[in-house]
This record gives sequence, structure tokens and C-alpha cells, in this order.
Amino acid sequence: MVNAAATLDDPRVVLAWEALAGVMDPEVPVLSVVDLGIVRAVRADASGIAIDLTPTYTGCPATAAIRLDVENAIEAAGLGRPRIALVNAPAWTTDWIGPDAREKLRAYGIAPPAGKASELKAALFAEDPVLACPRCGSTDTRLTGRFGSTACKSLHACNACAEPFEHFKCI
Ligand SMILES: [Zn+2]
Repeated sequence: MVNAAATLDDPRVVLAWEALAGVMDPEVPVLSVVDLGIVRAVRADASGIAIDLTPTYTGCPATAAIRLDVENAIEAAGLGRPRIALVNAPAWTTDWIGPDAREKLRAYGIAPPAGKASELKAALFAEDPVLACPRCGSTDTRLTGRFGSTACKSLHACNACAEPFEHFKCI
């Protein structure tokens, strides 16, 4: 096994994280796979780079595309074809989306996940919490569709500024 401290010092790991920061989620193009928190580990050893990825939504068709994008980005960074392991446990949760990434979502016009998924059981199909409009900040909003452009998002409208917006569901 590779020593964790030695791995962190390996310049290839730093380069790999930099390359991963440029791999955008195909469904939410303002967030990288690093922003989303789906890159769980990056290791370097004699045979190259190994990456642990945790898929976002089980069965989300984006997973295959993301995996390919990750492989291509690592290869383009001159690090060779990486070995990708899909790690399903612990399951990805929107709690792994960091504060900076939530701000990017809001700026993009998508209401970030509200609250903590760990406190909202079965949130994907649960009643949505009160959401603030990403444009004007009003909490006078209503649900207009269970599913947005992807199953991972729901559709809402703001009663204050009349703008529709999407919400990245909390899971
Ligand atoms: Zn509004």
C-alpha cells in the first residue's frame, strides 16, 4: 500500500487534482467534480494515478460521462490513463458540496441544496423545504415541477420576481 503522506507529496497527485478541478459536471457546468465532492481519493504509485469516484445519483446517466471526462483530463495532463474505482459507500450526499460551490450554483441561477441531506430522509421525493430565489433572494417561491432539466433538479418559480429557477435537490 502507498503511504498516505508520501502520496500527498507526490507532484503527480497535485497535478491530478488541478486537472480534476477543470472537469465540469455535464449537468451543472459551473461545478467541477472537485466542487461536487465526488472525487474521494487520488493516489499515485509506480503504475500511475488511481482515482476513487463516488457517483452522485445512483443510475444518473452522467456518471459514465464524468468517468470518461476524468480519464481524459488526467491523460491530457500527461499523467497517463488513470485507474478509476467507483466507490458507492458511503453514498454521495449534497452535504459534500462545499460553501464556494454552493455560491457558484446560486450565481448560476440554481438554488443550492437547502439544509443538510443527512437531516432530510428520502429528500429526493420529499416535500421541498422553503427555497430562496437565487435571483432576488425572496423565500416566496413555489414548486412548479418535480423534475427539472435532469432528475437531479426540480423546477420552481419566484412569486416576488416571477423568475423560474431550478433547485439542486438535496440527497
Ligand atoms: Zn425572485
